[in-house]
Amino acid sequence: MSRPFPTPPVLAYLLLGSNLGDRAAHLAAARHHLAAGAGAIVAQSGLYETAAWGREDQPAFLNQALAVRTSLSAEKLLAACLAAEQAAGRERAEHWGSRTLDVDILFFGAEICASPALTVPHPQLAGRRFALVPLAEIAPRLRHPQLGLTVAELLARCPDPLPVRPWLGQEPAP
Ligand code: ATP
Ligand code: CA
Ligand code: CA
Repeated sequence: MSRPFPTPPVLAYLLLGSNLGDRAAHLAAARHHLAAGAGAIVAQSGLYETAAWGREDQPAFLNQALAVRTSLSAEKLLAACLAAEQAAGRERAEHWGSRTLDVDILFFGAEICASPALTVPHPQLAGRRFALVPLAEIAPRLRHPQLGLTVAELLARCPDPLPVRPWLGQEPAP
């Protein structure tokens, strides 16, 4: 999905997640990193807390959805997401292990791309309440280009039983 330069900006939707250390501070640092390296954050959800999905032996996650207006290609946006994870000291010890920061691309405009390095829309989105709840806060009418349903409709149909609760903790000072 290489895009010739110059390209019009695309609205990309990202999901931030953290379940290690100062989780809210990791999300705040990720927003700064992405705003500097990927593009303007034009919408951001509140923070939500959810038990670790698929893993009962891990601390709970904080998650947040962002809308980023970016002129990067999808591949370069992914590189910026991985760089934000690196800056947070993320270590990849095991699949779905605890992490200081995870940044996933949920949507890249209406583009569809399926390679091991990058699959958009994110293939697990429809089954993850912890992603759909924050995304529905900022983009309920956004339509999934493959499934044909809006984010609000996907959330209403989501079979994931894990509760997603607004996080009531203290945000770090800017
Ligand atoms: P999951 O994809 O189930 O949420 P994860 O976030 O724990 O799992 P990671 O270890 O963070 O998985 O990422 C592994 C690789 O997935 C990344 O290096 C990246 O190349 C690839 N990947 C594919 N599609 C995406 C996407 N939409 N967003 C982020 N990474 C993706
Ligand atoms: Ca993820
Ligand atoms: Ca990831």
